[in-house]
Amino acid sequence: MADSSATAGGARAADVDVVVVGAGFAGLYLLHKLRGLGFRVQVLETADDVGGTWYWNRYPGARCDIPTTDYTYSFDPALETAWTWSEKYATQPEILRYAQFVADRYDLRRDIQFNTKVEAAHWDAAANRWRIRTSTDAKLSAQHLVMASGCLSVPKTPDIPGAGRFQGPVYSTGRWPHQGVDFTGQRVAVIGTGSSGIQSIPLIAEQAAQLTVFQRTPNYSIPAGNGPVAPERRAPLEANRDAYRLAAKWSRAGVPSEPTQIYGRYSPPDVHAERFEAAWKTGELIPILGVFADQILFPDSNAIVAGKVREKIRAVVHNPETAELLSPKDHHFGTKRPCLDTGYYQTYNRPNVRLVDLRRQPITSITETGIDVGGESMRFDAIVYATGFDAMTGAIVAVDITGRDGVTLKGKWAAGPITYLGLMSVGFPNFFMVTGPGSPSVLSNMMVSIEQHVDWISDCLVRLRSDGLSTIEPTPQAEAGWMQHSQDCAAITLFPSADSWYMGANVPGKPRVFLPYVGGVDAYRKACDEVVARGDLGLRRS
Ligand code: FAD
Repeated sequence: MADSSATAGGARAADVDVVVVGAGFAGLYLLHKLRGLGFRVQVLETADDVGGTWYWNRYPGARCDIPTTDYTYSFDPALETAWTWSEKYATQPEILRYAQFVADRYDLRRDIQFNTKVEAAHWDAAANRWRIRTSTDAKLSAQHLVMASGCLSVPKTPDIPGAGRFQGPVYSTGRWPHQGVDFTGQRVAVIGTGSSGIQSIPLIAEQAAQLTVFQRTPNYSIPAGNGPVAPERRAPLEANRDAYRLAAKWSRAGVPSEPTQIYGRYSPPDVHAERFEAAWKTGELIPILGVFADQILFPDSNAIVAGKVREKIRAVVHNPETAELLSPKDHHFGTKRPCLDTGYYQTYNRPNVRLVDLRRQPITSITETGIDVGGESMRFDAIVYATGFDAMTGAIVAVDITGRDGVTLKGKWAAGPITYLGLMSVGFPNFFMVTGPGSPSVLSNMMVSIEQHVDWISDCLVRLRSDGLSTIEPTPQAEAGWMQHSQDCAAITLFPSADSWYMGANVPGKPRVFLPYVGGVDAYRKACDEVVARGDLGLRRS
């Protein structure tokens, strides 16, 4: 437990070894792991319970898009067998129950301060400690600060004229009311067709009298084929759990898979069709993102996959004009995270659903009673914003983090995040990020990436402690090298061509740089392991 005492101002003061910001899957595992290693840890969390993503995103249809065989902790074999997932893609309530189950099982809540937002963290160079200020006016100090604050935890504020004027209820998928929403008989507007929109639209359409979907960019979506976990999917895991988890750790995206050597551009049409159909039938992202070895590298290979997805959309949507509007043409397949859906395209065959193309008819204004678009005034009873997140950096720079010599992280990152391995940043001693920018993060099964970072950070702190040292920070050369490598990896792919949230393009004014590391979970793990094997290569310890 943290040592705590009252300050002169009456605020709670605590001095701990590690302050962790966030009690999602990253924060929970960090707390468990570090506590087991004898560190005094305090977790601070804005919400009133654990779960992070799965606490906040309670919109209808919210599910994971990595199968539950893989989207699950693997650090404790006993935990794995103590919990059984009911579906291939679990719903939000089930994933939240899992996070709560984990918190109970390891008695984590006693070191989590809920309803507490971290506002500022300043490095006190004289004391070699972080001084932390929170929304509850608590003042803490810690030797180490770890941001487990989430890559998709800050919903984007809608940049739409008149937002705020509407007099009816307004909902954000990323901050959905806990008691749920009943849209029965209502005229509902959904703005946004990213993953949250695509998951929620079919269910809202079933309830609402009328649903109008406002789309700026169509996304590629694959039918999830949800249901119980298929025996053939479960078999390799049950046959040898350790081998399966090891294969995940050394895979490209955190899910065991054998990358193909087949190039789309050099193979004939029958191979294209066969490989695409096989991947499509799995209802999984990794196979469809890996139909060809070169699909994320060359436009011609990518076009084969993209064209076939568009054919699938046309085959489902009855109205040819609507089908065209729903067919993405402005970005290569996979340069934005494709979505998984249940009946998304079929929803547009319903008589109560209308699609409005914001490229052709931009919203003039949100009004007191609805939305004005292209000379038409539409009336609504409720508006749902499914407009995405300020991804990867949003939650980190929302905290006033000031390192050595008064340099702020926000200032340092003004032209884009600069990190060593997505884990640390020069000028910010004893500061770590879980799944930070510059690591595989959102391009991977996040559970695998979270566990890897938590394990690496924990081992790093143990080494520091056993060597009798107190601070650690990357060297400028190591950081510059990693940034160069990270950007080089992205530059040979099609990723930078898309206006995606991977590129920060969804947030006005955000620098346009590719945020995650695209070299793969396996290559990344190797790099992190090498840092350790070569005596904390690129790290300055004192
Ligand atoms: P989060 O779960 O985001 O938790 C961060 C926590 O930090 C939050 O509770 C937040 O309140 C808290 N916090 C942030 N800032 C502060 C502050 N200043 N002070 C105090 N507390 C703070 N990933 C996958 O790999 N597979 C999936 O299928 C998948 N599905 C997803 C579906 C949705 C709808 C979304 C939004 C994301 C999905 N993700 C998925 C990504 C998902 O975010 C991660 O898988 C994982 O849950 C992240 O855990 P985390 O602990 O790193 O962050």
